[in-house]
Amino acid sequence: MTTRTLITGGLVITAADETHADVLIEDGRIAALAAPGTQEWSASADRVLDATGKYVIPGGVDVHTHMELPFGGTFASDTFETGTKAAAWGGTTTIVDFAVQTKGQSLRAGLDAWYAKADGNCAIDYGFHMILSDVNDRTLKEMDLLVEEGLTSFKLFTAYPGVFFSDDGQILRAMQRASSNGGMIMMHAENGLAIDVLVEQALQRGETDPRYHGEVRKALLEAEATHRVIKLAQVAGAPVYVVHVSAQEAVAELARARDEGLPVFGETCPQYLFLSTDNLAEPDFEGAKYVCSTPLRPREHQAALWRGLRTNDLQVVSTDHCPFCFVGQKELGRGDFSKIPNGLPGVENRMDLLHQAVLDGHISRRRWIEIACATPARMFGLYGKKGTIAPGADADVVIYDPAAEQVMSAETHHMNVDYSAYEGKRVTGRVESVLSRGELVIDQREFVGRAGHGAYLARGTSQYLG
Ligand SMILES: [Zn+2]
Repeated sequence: MTTRTLITGGLVITAADETHADVLIEDGRIAALAAPGTQEWSASADRVLDATGKYVIPGGVDVHTHMELPFGGTFASDTFETGTKAAAWGGTTTIVDFAVQTKGQSLRAGLDAWYAKADGNCAIDYGFHMILSDVNDRTLKEMDLLVEEGLTSFKLFTAYPGVFFSDDGQILRAMQRASSNGGMIMMHAENGLAIDVLVEQALQRGETDPRYHGEVRKALLEAEATHRVIKLAQVAGAPVYVVHVSAQEAVAELARARDEGLPVFGETCPQYLFLSTDNLAEPDFEGAKYVCSTPLRPREHQAALWRGLRTNDLQVVSTDHCPFCFVGQKELGRGDFSKIPNGLPGVENRMDLLHQAVLDGHISRRRWIEIACATPARMFGLYGKKGTIAPGADADVVIYDPAAEQVMSAETHHMNVDYSAYEGKRVTGRVESVLSRGELVIDQREFVGRAGHGAYLARGTSQYLG
C-alpha cells in the first residue's frame, strides 16, 4: 500500500531555489512539489504536516563523524545509536563516518568491524569513508574493490606519526590509485613529524596546559601540509579533499590551487567558525573541552573561513564530531596536553549554527543548504538521493522553525557527552520535525524514530569529477 505524506505551506529551500510549495512524499521518496494548497493532494494524503511559517529543507548531510572511534586509549563517547539520534535532533539525516584500517590488517577487516558497530543501531542513514593507515600493494588493490562496492573515499594523514601517519610516498601511491579507480582522497593536512618535535619541546619547558595544544600545532604546519598534499595530488593526477581546514594560510593554499583549475576541495567545521584559541585558554583545564586537530585558531582566522565559504574556496561544512567526556576522558590529559583525546561534539549543532550564520550575514539561506546538504552529498556520490528536495530524492526532509530561539547546553542536547562546546550560546532557529525516507524521526520536538531504521549507503564516486 502506498503511503502519502503531504507537507504544506512551507518555504522550500534547496541549494538552487527558494519556493513556497507543498511537498508530496510517496513511499519514502519525494514524489512532487506543487503550488501551495493543491486540493487533490490533501484529499488523498494519509498524513499532512503543516509547515506554515517554517522552512522545508533537505536533511543535513554530515560527511565527517567519528562515532565510537578508538583514540588515545579511549573511545569517542557517542555510539552509532546515540550519535545518529543526536544528529536527527539537529536536522541531519545522513552521516558518513570513518571505518579504520588497523596497521597490519586489511581494509576489509576494518570495514567489517565498523559495519558491525553501526548495523542495526543507526536512526538515520549512514555511509563510510575508509581510513588508510597502511598503504601497501595489498591495500592498494583492496581500494579498487571498495570503490566498486560503493565505498569511494579514503582518508590519509600527514599527522599522528606511529598511528595514522602516511609518508609522502605512500600518499602519492594512494593518490595514483584513486586517480585510476575514481576514488576521492581525503587528507588530514598537518605536518605531524614537526608537530611532535614541538610537543616534546613544549612539555620539556613545562608547558602542559590545553592551550599549548594550539600553539604547537602551528597554522604554518597546516599550510605546509596542505600545500604538499595539493602538489602530490597534482603529480598523481588525482582530486584531493582537505578535511577540517582551520588556518587562513591553508585556505589560501586551496584558493591558489583552485585558481589554477585543480580538482582541490576543502571543508571546515563549526568549531573553527565559532570558537577560537580563547576557548583553549579557558582556566582550570576547561580548555581541554576544545582540544581537537587541526586546532582552534586565533579569532582572526574566522573571517578567512567565512570568506572561503562565500567564494567557494571551501565547499563543505562538516562537524568532525568526535566527542569525549570532560570527566574521565578529556581528563586523561591533565598535566600533559598531548594526552587529551582530540575531538569535539557537534553533530547536533551544525545546522543550527549555520542557520545563525545566515542571520549574522555570513552566508545566504541557499548557501546554508549548499554547504550543509547539497555539496557534501555531491562530493561523496550521494546527490540526487540525498541533499536536495526534488522528485525521486529520498524524503529526508526537515521542517525548520527559523524564528524559534534556543540556548545550546549539555543540559538539553542529545549527544552522549557531558559538556557542550557552545554552552550558553543563544541561536535563532530550531528543528521542528525530521523525516528520514518519509518516516518521522522527530515529530514536533519529540523523538519518534528508532535505532535500526538507518540504512547503509553504498555511494557513487564524487559527482564533482569526470
Ligand atoms: Zn576527523
